[in-house]
Parts: sequence; C-alpha cells; structure tokens
Amino acid sequence: MRISFYGAARLVTGSKHLIETESGLRVLLDCGLFQGGGSDSHELNRHFGFDPASIDHVVLSHAHIDHSGLLPRLVAQGFEGKIWTTPASVDLCEIMLMDSAYIQENDLRRVNERRKRRGESILDPLYTVDDVEKTLTHFREVGYRQEHRLNDEFSFTFYDSGHIIGSAGIYMEIVESTGRETIFFTGDIGRKGDIILHDPEPFPQANFIICESTYGDRLHDDASHAAAQLLRTVYETCVINKGKVIIPAFSVDRTQEIIYMLDKMHSEGKLPAIEVFVDSPLSVKATKVMQKHEADFNPAILEYIKKDGDAFCFPGLHYITEVEASKALNHRKEPCIIISASGMAEAGRVKHHIFNSIEKEKNCILIVGYASPSSLGGALRRGEKLVRIFGKDLEVKARVEVMDAFSAHADYLEMLEYLSCQDASKVSKVFLVHGEYDTQMAFKLKLIEAGFYHIEIPELGDTYEHP
Ligand SMILES: [Zn+2]
Repeated sequence: MRISFYGAARLVTGSKHLIETESGLRVLLDCGLFQGGGSDSHELNRHFGFDPASIDHVVLSHAHIDHSGLLPRLVAQGFEGKIWTTPASVDLCEIMLMDSAYIQENDLRRVNERRKRRGESILDPLYTVDDVEKTLTHFREVGYRQEHRLNDEFSFTFYDSGHIIGSAGIYMEIVESTGRETIFFTGDIGRKGDIILHDPEPFPQANFIICESTYGDRLHDDASHAAAQLLRTVYETCVINKGKVIIPAFSVDRTQEIIYMLDKMHSEGKLPAIEVFVDSPLSVKATKVMQKHEADFNPAILEYIKKDGDAFCFPGLHYITEVEASKALNHRKEPCIIISASGMAEAGRVKHHIFNSIEKEKNCILIVGYASPSSLGGALRRGEKLVRIFGKDLEVKARVEVMDAFSAHADYLEMLEYLSCQDASKVSKVFLVHGEYDTQMAFKLKLIEAGFYHIEIPELGDTYEHP
C-alpha cells in the first residue's frame, strides 16, 4: 500500500491524497482546488502530478471547493471512474461545482482581457459548466456507517464529521498479501455542539490516520454567547442607530446558522420587527439542500423544526436570487439585516452591499468567519480605516464587529477529543495535512503529549510506502 500527497500538504487548500494498493487499485481521496489566487495555485490547479485517467475511484470527504473543486478537471482530463460520497455531498457538489465553473469562466474572462492587451496568449478555463455536468454523472451515493467495497482488497465507510452537511471522515480497510491495514482520513473535522449538525462521530481503530490540522495551534471563542452577541449587534444597529447590518457569510453552513439563530430569536419574540434578506443565489440553493437533508441534523434542531415548522423561515425573512431585487437593497433606507456571500467579502453581492454602506456610521459590518488577510474581509477584521472597493478608496465609518465563535473547523482541543476514540499505541502513523507548517508543528507536539508518537508532516508529492 502506498499513500501519496498531492495537495493540502503544508497548505490549507487543494486536498488530494492517493492510495494505491498491492494489486494496483488507485483511489483518490478528495480532489480539491488550490485556492488563494497567485501563480502557485494557478500552476498547481493545472497539473495534478498524476494521470487522471489512471485513477480508478474518487472517495470524497465533503463538498467544500478545496476538497471537491478539481473534480470537473479530473473528469475533463480522462478520469472515468466513480466518485463516492454521501447523499448530501452529491447535492451540494451539484450547486457548488456549477458556481465554481461560473466563477472560473468569469475570472478568466477578466484575466484574458488583460493578457490580450499585453499581447500574451489566452488561457483556457480550468473547466466549464459542461465539464461539471459530465462530472455529476460520475457521482454515487453511500450513506454514513454503510461499508462499501470497491474490490476484494479495498472497502470504505463514511462517519459523520460534523463539519458541513454531508461531511464525512473516511475509514478504509485494505487487505493485501502482507495483511490487513486500516486508514482513517478525517477530511475536515467539525465541532462539538454545532447548532445544526451532529457532533463529529467516533470511528473504529485505525493503523494510519490522515488528519487535518487547520487550527492545530488555536482555541476558538466560546460559542455559547454567539446568539446574544448577534442580537445585541442587531439592536444597536437597527433599532438604536436605524442602520443596516451587513453580514458576509459562506453560503453553506454559516448562512444557515445565522438564519436559524434569527429564526429562534423571532420565535422567542426577541427579534425586533426588521426585514432580513438572504441575498445570494448559492446561499438560497444551499439552504434548500440542507432542508432536503434534515435527517443529518442534530436532535435539538429537529425538535425545534417539529415545533416551529421550519428552522430557516420566519415572517420578515426574504430569500433573494434576482439581480434587480439585490440592487434594490442598495436604495433601501429602512434598517435591515443583509446576509450575503462571499464569506471573505472578496467577491459576490456582499461586496456591493459593503461598498454602499461602509461610509455611514449608522451601519455595521459583522464579520462571522475566517477571512484571508489579503481579502476585503481580512482588511475589515484588522480594523483598517481605509479600504479600496471597485477601484474607489472608501473611509470605514460603519462599525465593524467580529464574531469569532463561529468556525466549521475544530480547534486543537476539539481535534484531540475527536482522536481520543483511538488507542494511540495502535496507530502506526499520523500524517498531518490541511494546515500551515508552523501550525502543524504545534499540533504535532500536542499529539505527542496525547500519546501519538509517529507523526509525519508530508510535503507536496511525498509518498509513504507500507510495508
Ligand atoms: Zn471543509
């Protein structure tokens, strides 16, 4: 058995790990896009480091683009096998990969206009909407805790990782002439106590663990105050200052968490009578996918839905998909809440809403998630007083609030708790992936304290062979 690392190696994007068995079966775990722009990502996304046609199967941990976003390119370049994932991930991939194709084609149009002006050659998109459509025919559903066998040598089982709807850790059993080995790939690890999802679920004993490490050196803020902080911000901004609250939020999970919190406040009679707009076609579609997969929700929200009828619907809440309706929000004088994508405020409709409200003191921009330092969200998080949007320098007069209680990733204590279902002495090796190197080094020490001794931090292209 051989494990090779073709992405998310000392990085947080591009998740892609290849398992090869004795008989030559080649199973790719995830096929994620390298994100963050720059020429490095550009090159990495164009060259897999292996022949896509040589891959027999893909097993996908979840639908986030840094785990699924290169599947259409894999198919376009000759992959003919099946893509195994959970039912909710199939539905999410359909909308997220389509969205990704549109973004690629739009971004590339701008890049190519620039290249044309400079007399440079025109680039092809990584993939097109047609490639996504073809990719969707390769998907096959496998539910949680159902062992699925690919051949005599290789079987896998999904365990709910509580990260986004449909997310899974992948437990693999490989039987070769030298004996039986078990590998567990965590995918991204969610957090205990999520308001919508289940807690990450324990998995059987594994010999090898491929473990994410995004927040291997960090502890999150206590999530129990999140609703109170959100309500206070809404009161101060909308009731006292008569302004707008703009919330840049990721379309999947974060948007629905905020809507559910507001829904609960409404049911409890706490939410002031203001209009709430979810302004993002992808967020609207993602909410529908989540509603379709209610079976994957935790018992507390299911109980709420039984009483309330719906966790993502209350009087005054409006879902917007049309561009004209989105533009109309800019002229709106009355206080309101606008939840819109993208989460880092780098693109999408939320950028327009920030552009139109940032120079007024009465408004508030509420940052509810991670934003890379180079993004507009990152600049606002840092408290910068001047930002450039659509080529215009704008003074930040609106209040900027940051809520760090939200995160879809476990912090280091939560990851250690997740791994505590394992007898560390029986784990031959832990491979740390999906993290920055300094963070991974810090997490490695924590793991050693917890009894895991053999910890590797693979580099891009590294291969581990066993036995
Ligand atoms: Zn993820």
